[in-house]
Amino acid sequence: MMPALTALQPNFVFHDGRFGPGVVHLDGHGRIVSVDAAPLPGAARVQLRNMALLPGFINAHSHVFQRLLRGVAERPTGRAEDFWSWRTAMYALVDRMTPELLEDIATATYLEMRQAGYTRVKEFHYLHHLPVGRRYADPHELTRRLIAAARTAGIALELMRVVYLDATEPSQRRFQDASIDEAITLTDELHRTAGIPVGIAPHSVRAVSPDGFRRCAEWARLRGAELHAHVAEQPKEVAWCMDRHGRTPVALLAEAGALGPRTHAVHLTHLNDADVTLIGQSGTVAVICPSTEANLADGIPRLPELLSAGAGLAIGSDSQAHIDPFLELRSLEYHERLRSGRRCHLGPGELLTATTVRQNPGDLADFLLIDLDSPSLAGVPLPSLDAALAFGADARVIAGHWHALGPRPVTLRPDLLRAAARTVWV
Ligand SMILES: [Zn+2]
Repeated sequence: MMPALTALQPNFVFHDGRFGPGVVHLDGHGRIVSVDAAPLPGAARVQLRNMALLPGFINAHSHVFQRLLRGVAERPTGRAEDFWSWRTAMYALVDRMTPELLEDIATATYLEMRQAGYTRVKEFHYLHHLPVGRRYADPHELTRRLIAAARTAGIALELMRVVYLDATEPSQRRFQDASIDEAITLTDELHRTAGIPVGIAPHSVRAVSPDGFRRCAEWARLRGAELHAHVAEQPKEVAWCMDRHGRTPVALLAEAGALGPRTHAVHLTHLNDADVTLIGQSGTVAVICPSTEANLADGIPRLPELLSAGAGLAIGSDSQAHIDPFLELRSLEYHERLRSGRRCHLGPGELLTATTVRQNPGDLADFLLIDLDSPSLAGVPLPSLDAALAFGADARVIAGHWHALGPRPVTLRPDLLRAAARTVWV
């Protein structure tokens, strides 16, 4: 019989925004009961020597199939390479994707995410249809493949079902919904039946009209669901929006009622002062993907200003150029240092709090076991542990993943990527 209480006894636990001594008590289902100074009487004790417990990282923006683009479009060509020429390479991959390939790539990549420290992923899923734009017999075929992959990999999946209406290129027909009504109906169907959290994701101001954003925001409000969108990633997107709608992408979302604490605005690399205020005052979550934004030459967001204006914060591996939450965290700070010529902009405790899963009483235990003897942490004093982790560590400090009542091991599957790459690129 399962004991009523389990007491996890690490050296330190990350709790209320900082590391300190503590014992995490779990009930017989692996749910957190309390964090206490000492083990409660009768609890089965689990000693975690030279370990700290850190809640798992949330990957708040992922296009998982793009993992197959590693090393693609990374060479000088004599032309001016930019986001838009990278996108051409990405569309070549889109054109060749099948349900089987998607499931294999997602399984391998979600396992890789878990090994890197992500235990939850919000998938911004826009690949819906057959290459010519025809529907699969089950319109949710590709979504179901992602759900199966996440289950195999043991990562918690949240599906952000993309709405894409204004396709202008042949590859985009795989994304395109027939109408806003159809897009919302399909999203709602998933929300009711998928068995995982489902949100709505109007792709960007390029792909969805102001009225489309308004409809998506209404649905999200009605269902208490998240709304995700790419916002102000590229100067050309902002200029196009100004030209077409007479306002910035952020102002367009604000007028459509699409900003707020449940909205995740991805990138925000090209904002004016008024945009920063709108994002901050609405409490919108800024999803920053520094390694992708560097890889795609998107730009550097005005993060300290956004945070002091009231914005939330999340990170994402986005294009999968890198899968490493530690890299994203230190890049948030380092990009700001390079831009400003000054140091120490972002508090490590706040960064870790914003980017990891909540671990309150009632939540299923979902902790990374952090090895305090690893070279990047050995000897770091307790008050500096959060900063050493946020700015100086990598996945080698992760000794395991404690999920519910025990360790959940990760076995990587590079063979799946190898086979998928052979099929797609040869
Ligand atoms: Zn994206």
